[in-house]
Formats: sequence, structure tokens, C-alpha cells
Amino acid sequence: MSVSYLKSILNGAGNIVCLLGRAPAAEQGCDLYREDFSYDIEIRYGRSPSEIVNSTFYNNRPETFYEFYREDILKHRGEPDEINYSLRRMEDDGKLSGIVTRGYFNLSRRAGCHNVVSLYGNIDSNFCPHCRKQFGVDYILEHKPIPMCDSCGTMIHPGIVLSGELLDSQKVNRAVELISAAEVLLVLGTDLHTRLGSMAKYFSGDKICLVNRYSHYSDQAADCVCIGDVEQIMHEAYPSGRLLKKPAGEGRQPED
Ligand SMILES: [Zn+2]
Repeated sequence: MSVSYLKSILNGAGNIVCLLGRAPAAEQGCDLYREDFSYDIEIRYGRSPSEIVNSTFYNNRPETFYEFYREDILKHRGEPDEINYSLRRMEDDGKLSGIVTRGYFNLSRRAGCHNVVSLYGNIDSNFCPHCRKQFGVDYILEHKPIPMCDSCGTMIHPGIVLSGELLDSQKVNRAVELISAAEVLLVLGTDLHTRLGSMAKYFSGDKICLVNRYSHYSDQAADCVCIGDVEQIMHEAYPSGRLLKKPAGEGRQPED
């Protein structure tokens, strides 16, 4: 389907909610599940990224966990791209009600979006599990090997949800509220079969628009489908007004 159809839907809609997949961040090189990255981590740590980003590993080997978190996550956060700025403009124009994402690099917020539900947390919200004090990225980078809370001395928990941990139910509820009240659901960088994309089941509005790099059999449930470079398509459909800088290299589609 044509980008002009997407453009007309977005321009005509008043209450858009975006499900933002990890693929856009992956295109900038900050994705844990990229294959080449995964091999590199296995060579250096003797474990896969998914084995490290795990609550048991974090509790048993916090030094190694924090080395990985600092060197391979926090230092690879990337910059907001045209997708994030296009969403920002949509929000400024009063069209976008919110973004639901499983990305944890906080790129949409850094582009200026306000209503972002980060289902899997974000790297700027590291916290003390005892007194709940929050700590930014710099604190974690500076306090080696294991960052401790400067108020109560407890080991800080990373801002991201580790596998084996539950999602914050308040965030999940907020995401469901947003999706179920939306007029248009804009699914970017993921398909409807992923854990994030399957949240489309809560949508009862007018149209689902899906923009992804690869097609998938579940795309047929969407009303408007654009397959290709997500950043380029959003630049055409709802330009932020910024110059489009092309990221180096093309990311493999992650499994969301
Ligand atoms: Zn504390």
C-alpha cells in the first residue's frame, strides 16, 4: 500500500497511539538481539545477551552484569531518529496520545515526546529497590564495579526489566487504556505477531497502520501496511521538519 494512504490517515486522525518496536533502535546499532552483537558478547562473556539480562544472573554475578550493562548497553544508546521526531511532531500537533514501546533507550523521550509507556523500563530510571531513589546513566557509569544506593547502601537495580521479572502492572494498564481509547493505532518497526504488536488486540478504533521493514502474514489484520525503511516512510508520511540523516548499516529484524 502507498505511503500517501498512510499520510492521509495520519493527517485526518485526532487520537493516534503508536506501538513502537525495537527495530528502529536496532537500525542504529543498539539492539541486544542483533546476531553479530550476540556473537561478540558470547566471546567476551561466555554467555549470550539474553542469559546476562536475566534476574538470576544479575543477583548471582552483579559485577559481570554491571560490566555488561555499562559497556554494552549504556554506552550504545544511540540518538533519536526521524521516527522519534516524527512522533514528536505528531504529539506537538495534538494528534498523538501516546507511545507504547518495549525499547529501553528512551529515544522518544529524548526527542521530546512526553507520553511514553516504556513497558520494559528504560536505562535512565535505575533505582534502589529498598528506598526507591532513582539514578541516571552517569551514576551507573561512574560507580564501579557495582553501583550502590548513596542513601541506603543497597545494590541498585537497572532501569530495565530483566527476564524472570514481572512487568509493572500500572504501565501495562496504562498501555491498554491508551490503545483501547485510540482512533488510529500506528505500529512501527514490529509486526502484529510479536508480544508488543499483539497488544493491538485491545484496539477497537478505526484503523491500524503498520510500517515495518519486513512483511509478515499477520500484516493482513492491518488496514494500511507500508513495508520498507521505517524511518524513510515516516519521513514521507509525517515529516518532522528535520533533515533526514541515514543511519549507517541496516539492522537485522529483531524478534520483539
Ligand atoms: Zn536506597
